[in-house]
Amino acid sequence: MKDDVTTEKKRRGRPKKNVAANDTVAAVEVKRGRGRPKGSSNKKPLKNIDAKKDIKNLTYKPVNVWDNPKFSRRNIMSFSEGYKAFMNKARTEREFIREAIIMAQERGFVNIDSLGDAKLNPGDKVFRVVRDKLMLLAVVGRKPAEEGTRIVGAHVDSPRIDIKQNPLYENTEMAFFKTHYYGGIKKYQWVSIPLALHGVIVKADGTVVNVNIGEDEKDPVFTITDLLPHLAKDQYEKKLNEAFQGENMNVLIGSEPVGDKDEKDRVKKNILSLLHEKYGIVEEDLISSELQVVPAFKARDVGLDRSMIGAYGHDDRICAYPALMSILETKNPEYTAICYLTDKEEIGSVGNTGAESRALENFVADLCAMTTSGTYTDRLVRASLDRSKMLSADVNAAVDPNYEGTHDKMNAGYLGKGVAIMKFSGSRGKSGASDANAEYLGEIRKLLNDHQIPWHITELGAVDKGGGGTIAMMIANLGVDVIDIGVPVLSMHAPFEVASKADLFATYRAYCVFLQ
Ligand code: MN
Ligand code: MN
Repeated sequence: MKDDVTTEKKRRGRPKKNVAANDTVAAVEVKRGRGRPKGSSNKKPLKNIDAKKDIKNLTYKPVNVWDNPKFSRRNIMSFSEGYKAFMNKARTEREFIREAIIMAQERGFVNIDSLGDAKLNPGDKVFRVVRDKLMLLAVVGRKPAEEGTRIVGAHVDSPRIDIKQNPLYENTEMAFFKTHYYGGIKKYQWVSIPLALHGVIVKADGTVVNVNIGEDEKDPVFTITDLLPHLAKDQYEKKLNEAFQGENMNVLIGSEPVGDKDEKDRVKKNILSLLHEKYGIVEEDLISSELQVVPAFKARDVGLDRSMIGAYGHDDRICAYPALMSILETKNPEYTAICYLTDKEEIGSVGNTGAESRALENFVADLCAMTTSGTYTDRLVRASLDRSKMLSADVNAAVDPNYEGTHDKMNAGYLGKGVAIMKFSGSRGKSGASDANAEYLGEIRKLLNDHQIPWHITELGAVDKGGGGTIAMMIANLGVDVIDIGVPVLSMHAPFEVASKADLFATYRAYCVFLQ
């Protein structure tokens, strides 16, 4: 048990039931010769259970995290405060990585690319950043990397609205940026809300300008307008996916003209003049930019009991943040512990900053070269990946009681039931899924039970209701054992997503015990 898990008196309710149930199963496994798990109790084998007295121990029943006597409310709340503060600074993948670098360096992590051919020793802490959007961190294990690693992988990009490369135009004396949305959004959720502008602009001379407008209380914000109900008769008749057209999702950015009345496009010219004043850029510089609009509101407590957090970008920062925190706190692990923070998951993990890139393999190759006692060869990397295990740290679709029929309730994610394990994702007959091996699921289940970390088994939704994927399949393709495990979320991909603080803490604890 880790020291940050207190054993203070339980706040309310009964102790966790499925721990007892699963201890019993563990005891059966001992009988079958699989060895007694560390810390397991002396429960009697299944066949000796008094049917009347212990019948409840035979059923699988996830419990509420708040009832777990091993977690204190204070620890749950305090971890959530750290998460909210981080979320208010890390609004995009670049900003997440920027904050992560600061936190890693503060804790003694060294850029692996500054070490040349040096050897690494157990306990050494290194990181690598790829194009400011992907990051790998590692704590070197007591065993060399060729014997396998333990990886927690999350993505740090979130659905949003990207500004087009040639975006600026004027219409009816208002200036707009044209956009192309990024990831799976329900477009109607992104109109009529305050938006902030983040990103980079690469100027003609190659210098990079950082943009961040709309987060400070004194900053202006932006918005995509919507039609008033009085004139929405035609809009009401349309299907939801037709009523809001991507090409019309233009961001309002100004309405004041420049002084010279003989000029054309006076409002657009005023915006260009302001951009030049602030950033020293001209219109063509916008072509080499990555500008994103994201909701301009901060992470907030949700509920009178403050048991939940509402924020933009829980998917997947509510898993990426505990993944980062768990690697930062890993000390002297048996196997080299790796935290993998990827970009582009929301559009298919593509490109040289996505999980389909070689970034993980390259990093593992370097770790093998720097920890082997023999001669480095390519076979060490392949052996390492074959022996590695990973938690694909991504959010899960929690049951929303206001929308019946979307889930199979026996195999669904719920708020407050702890970290959600998902054996497979995909859609229409598990197509496009990484389907974890039962043996590996069993191993993870046992690990969580041994540490009394609440968990439940889930699917993305009811069969044939839709589907989706994570980075699990890309990493599984390398030979790694991978399973999806993360925080259940309500209103996923909406500008304001909701998750339970208790689930966040359970997830953080799960990643910690896995890496350690
Ligand atoms: Mn995700
Ligand atoms: Mn997503």
